[in-house]
Amino acid sequence: MAGDKQITIQPQIQYRLIEELTQANNRLQAELDAHKKIEISLIEDKDKAQQAAKSKARFLANMSHEIRTPMNGIIGLTHLLLKTNISEKQQEYLKAIVTSSDTLTVIINDILDIAKMESGKVTIDNKEYNLRNTISSVLELFASRAMDKNLMLTSDIDETVPELVIGDAARLSQILFNLIGNGIKFTKKGEVNLTIRVLSRQKSKVELKFIVSDTGIGIGNSKLQYIFKAFAQARSNTSRKYGGTGLGLTIVKRLIELQGGAITVRSKPHEGSEFSFNLLFRLSKNTTNVNQRSQHDSRDNIDLKDVKVLLAEDNPVNQLVTKDLIIESGATVVVADNGIETIKAFEKEEFDIILMDCQMPVMDGYDTMRYVRNEMEEKKRSIPIIALTAQASAGEKEKCQDAGANDYLSKPYNPNELHDKMVILLKKATSPVKIKKIKLNGIHSKRLVKFDVMNEYLGGKKQLMKQIIVKLVEILPQYLKSMKLLVKNKDSDKIMALVHKIKPNIAMLGVDELSSLLHIIENKTSKSRDVSQEMKGVEVLLKKVVKELKVRSSAK
Ligand code: ADP
Repeated sequence: MAGDKQITIQPQIQYRLIEELTQANNRLQAELDAHKKIEISLIEDKDKAQQAAKSKARFLANMSHEIRTPMNGIIGLTHLLLKTNISEKQQEYLKAIVTSSDTLTVIINDILDIAKMESGKVTIDNKEYNLRNTISSVLELFASRAMDKNLMLTSDIDETVPELVIGDAARLSQILFNLIGNGIKFTKKGEVNLTIRVLSRQKSKVELKFIVSDTGIGIGNSKLQYIFKAFAQARSNTSRKYGGTGLGLTIVKRLIELQGGAITVRSKPHEGSEFSFNLLFRLSKNTTNVNQRSQHDSRDNIDLKDVKVLLAEDNPVNQLVTKDLIIESGATVVVADNGIETIKAFEKEEFDIILMDCQMPVMDGYDTMRYVRNEMEEKKRSIPIIALTAQASAGEKEKCQDAGANDYLSKPYNPNELHDKMVILLKKATSPVKIKKIKLNGIHSKRLVKFDVMNEYLGGKKQLMKQIIVKLVEILPQYLKSMKLLVKNKDSDKIMALVHKIKPNIAMLGVDELSSLLHIIENKTSKSRDVSQEMKGVEVLLKKVVKELKVRSSAK
């Protein structure tokens, strides 16, 4: 354009500019690479941290399971020993064992709760329950402890607080249990009070404020902000003087927040403390009062004579404990070591109730329950079943219910609780029982034979597949018969030979459960060990395989 100046750059300067630009570009690229590396390592670190958190949660869940099983033995046996003829001194020692075991159980539960919360595995129930009854039960639980310490335990509940609400009764009890428990623990003189006020009420929901106050030792201002942190205690000597782990309030706070509420605390040393929290509840449409079975109703010391119990439990100590507890209540009991034994016993005899341990060898409790509910003769399918489990993980209750349990007890359980649950179920059983259709996913409900595996194995030759199925339907029952006999006679060499013969057939059918069982049999037989338990599993599975093959051969 006219007037525009033409700028000419000397070649050396041009060269230098290009050089500098290139260097700047390289530096930028290097920085970008470094950032990328940092980003990748941050992602890796995050993955690792998530992995570590998961392993921690899994480790804690497993540990608590490992601890719960022997704890069940300790608590049960102590309870039984207390009823025997022993000196006063021995009684005192045993009571100390009971207290220690109770404390240990609380600690295990707390640690597990924290682990579950950290891994986001805690779910909040949304079921209708009687709020007033739940609160009375918590207060009743503390009545004698308060009396022992000469404390007044009082409550002041607005008349407009509804009876029926929708929410999580167990979690509310847990929150109140911790707060009232602390109130009593940290108060020497005076009273502990629970106040409940209605903050707001609409047609379908109500917001309540809960206040737990005491006249105890109080908490200093500087410590108030820490007490909700895990393992925090207000005084350095708290644990030695009052016990506890400093986990209770952490759990309480998280449980309240999980339900959309918040907790606050006011406290003055030597005057007392006041913990307040608010929670929103949905209201039940059903406004008429349900006349819920009162706690005492079930606590009646009902004699269970004439009741026949089938106890499925593999742990010898727990067998001993539970068996004795049942006999003590007047009932008779037959013990089965695993799921297969349980089914056999129940096929042979009539029972009124089954207590089913979930973690058993050969065939576990869940599969056994599914078998009872789906495969037993019609009139036996509705037998009441209480699942006993040492697995305290989230969703365990649902898992037991899905498998067909009417009720559920987590180990270690309180002997009275077992008695109560049995009474409730037996009472209900006298009225017609509705059987829920069980979700089918156990070994007895799912298909064992994988025909697609077989098809692939035979290169898609349909005709050949048909012939082989017909042949297998004929020979597998014969194999089973011979194998049972050989196991009975403990003829190791012949067992090994027969297992060798059957294994390829089973592999061709893709029945992994049976293949692994045969592998175990092979292994144990080679060490001259008894395999009669495994044989029972083989029998159940093989019969099911033959049944499936028969259906297939008649279908086409
Ligand atoms: P724990 O009671 O097992 O020590 P918590 O988490 O329930 O653990 O409580 C943490 C700490 O808060 C306690 O150790 C105690 O120092 C203090 N604290 C809790 N509740 C009260 C209370 N009602 N009065 C005085 N101090 C309390």
